[in-house]
Amino acid sequence: MFDIVRVPALSDNYIWLVHDPASGETMVVDPAEADPALAAAQARGWTISQIWNTHWHPDHTGGNAAIKAATGARVTGPAAEAAKIPTLDVLVGEGDTVRLGDHIARVWETPAHTAGHVSYHFADDAMIFVGDTLFAMGCGRLFEGDAAQMFANMQRLAALPGETLAYGAHEYTLANGRYARAAEPDNQAIAERLAAAEAARAAGEATLPTTIALERATNPFMRARSIEQLAARRAEKDAFRG
Ligand SMILES: [Zn+2]
Repeated sequence: MFDIVRVPALSDNYIWLVHDPASGETMVVDPAEADPALAAAQARGWTISQIWNTHWHPDHTGGNAAIKAATGARVTGPAAEAAKIPTLDVLVGEGDTVRLGDHIARVWETPAHTAGHVSYHFADDAMIFVGDTLFAMGCGRLFEGDAAQMFANMQRLAALPGETLAYGAHEYTLANGRYARAAEPDNQAIAERLAAAEAARAAGEATLPTTIALERATNPFMRARSIEQLAARRAEKDAFRG
């Protein structure tokens, strides 16, 4: 199994630091900034040898250059966004595999938030790094893609085993939960989850990773029954001030 450290960065980003004890390899997913990731690794005696990016946004790639300079890490990211991520060494797309030690992740193309967004699925480890595609009770904004793409992403994620851990890149759970409650006022699972998230945040705790089972029960975007319903909910959420 991996040792996984959640490294808070910027205002609400999470950088996921993933260490494989068997091989001694350490990778970092979506380093918003270099210093907190390097410090978290150093504190544990780990050296970052790989960076995996889900998409080009600066709050996911901003640490690439400095981590690479400090450690020689190899940077893997979406081929479709290579022009926007000049630090990339390995370009990946749908169906490609990426390794951390003996653990194999398969690349999913999950466009919508950005045109080339990818996710990294470790099927044998029941975990997936979803960047800005899936959040607790939410999904990413549709900056470069459309609701049909996000609907397909949600359906595909929903089909994973329920215990699969999903690692998103932002602590947006309270805002998402307030919208989820408004979207599905009769959904008791949402009400309970929002209350639990409010207590966790008040205690300074994180609410990620989430699980696919929890999202199936409480995520109004994963629960959308049609592209049209997802589009309507996404537009409502963008304007929502709960
Ligand atoms: Zn983003």
